Amino acid sequence: SEPIHIIGGGLAGSEAAWQAAQSGANVIIHEMRPQRMTDAHLTEGLAELVCSNSFRSDDHEHNAVGLLHEEMRRCNSLIMAAADKNALPAGGALAVDRDGFSAAVTQAIEQHPNIEVERSEVAGLPPAEWSNVVIATGPLTSPALAEGISTLTGEDSLAFFDAIAPIVHEESIDRSVVWAQSRYDKVGPTGNGADYLNCPMNEDEYNNFVDALLGAELHQFKDWEKVPYFDGCLPIEVMAERGRQTLRFGPMKPVGLTNPRDPLVKSYAIVQLRQDNALGTLWNMVGFQTKMRYGIQAEIFRMIPGLENAQFARLGGLHRNTFLNSPKVLGRNLRLKADPRIRFAGQVTGVEGYVESAAIGLMAGRMAAGDFHGKPLDAPGPTTAMGALINHITGGHIEAEGYSGARSFQPMNVNFGLFPAVTITKPEGVTRWKSVERTKAKRKAITSRALTDIMEWA
Ligand code: FAD
Repeated sequence: SEPIHIIGGGLAGSEAAWQAAQSGANVIIHEMRPQRMTDAHLTEGLAELVCSNSFRSDDHEHNAVGLLHEEMRRCNSLIMAAADKNALPAGGALAVDRDGFSAAVTQAIEQHPNIEVERSEVAGLPPAEWSNVVIATGPLTSPALAEGISTLTGEDSLAFFDAIAPIVHEESIDRSVVWAQSRYDKVGPTGNGADYLNCPMNEDEYNNFVDALLGAELHQFKDWEKVPYFDGCLPIEVMAERGRQTLRFGPMKPVGLTNPRDPLVKSYAIVQLRQDNALGTLWNMVGFQTKMRYGIQAEIFRMIPGLENAQFARLGGLHRNTFLNSPKVLGRNLRLKADPRIRFAGQVTGVEGYVESAAIGLMAGRMAAGDFHGKPLDAPGPTTAMGALINHITGGHIEAEGYSGARSFQPMNVNFGLFPAVTITKPEGVTRWKSVERTKAKRKAITSRALTDIMEWA
């Protein structure tokens, strides 16, 4: 067979190459560093960690990213082996010595008999004679390749920054305060004119909320991180600065909605939540992209009636980030519908984080190897962390019509909201099952199901 060409030797590309090569396939990695650097990388090492040195929680029983670690270990992940070998003391988290980690990955790849490393930029779409390609060029994909991809997929299918609205876990929303209704009862995906959850505010609540936004501390940007604002997509604190009423005429406008608990009283402002995944476990705050620091975001958003106890699957942000509108352009096997010889892997597919990026690389590498050997391989099932991630990026996500027509697919870390539900039963002898204990039991059930199911695929 023709060799597998992997573009990008970061977290995802290195893992993909390793997985494919271990199966006996021939692999060529094309990495542009050091010939051409990105704005964030500092070295020529493969799998360089560009910022923090943490792989986050290593608790595989109660934490979704910890579960992802464990699934990857069971699939002989190079990234996890190098991380474990270079682990530093960090409590329940997995933190690594970044130089030792990158050196271990680089050495394993360079010394692998089935892998060739070519240090050059692929400055456009892969040549026609490459029949099995994985593009893993990350959030800072070089401009020449990004341009090629966007020509192929259509301009609105590749984003160059993410304007992320916070996402809330359904079970933490107070249903005795919010109500379901679409603006003007417009009929959408659910077919009943009730696609949104609405959080009502009176005048005092609105004014306090605006004051909190105006006083909030912002994330400090480095020069290259700076993202141009355009009007459809302003951070809410910038809208608040433009005038006290701006939010009431923007994402918080109270028109076309009636609170069934108080139909005669008009809400002064309304925050809308839109269903974010097919399971209905995650809801995003419509039009609430923000640059506020994480800690302060949670505090301020809990001022919104109905969200007093909100738990966030992710907080809002605004970053430079090249990523595909994967639900539209990729199949569940990570192939590009417009050119099936090409797969995508890593952050460019719309996942977020070192571990998630490497996990998509792991699956893409195995699938590409399947094609190399003439034995096509499907993605893992949706009950596993890896399968749940693939579901999020290729289909589980709801493409609902967004505020000001903006596309709603945004990158996300792995989290329990991405998994199908499990049924749990109260342990015998317990009369009052505390909600923390219930959540713990639920997580344990999800993770043990996942670790059983991943073995079938591994
Ligand atoms: P990368 O690791 O970036 O690998 C892509 C590789 O492709 C690079 O080596 C690049 O040189 C190469 N490349 C690009 N274009 C071409 C081309 N045309 N030809 C050949 N090679 C090419 N995640 C976290 O979990 N924690 C963090 O603290 C964190 N901080 C981040 C900070 C920044 C500034 C950025 C941009 C992202 C951060 N992320 C973080 C998000 C993400 O997890 C990392 O970017 C991660 O490295 C993504 O892995 P990847 O393999 O998809 O891309």
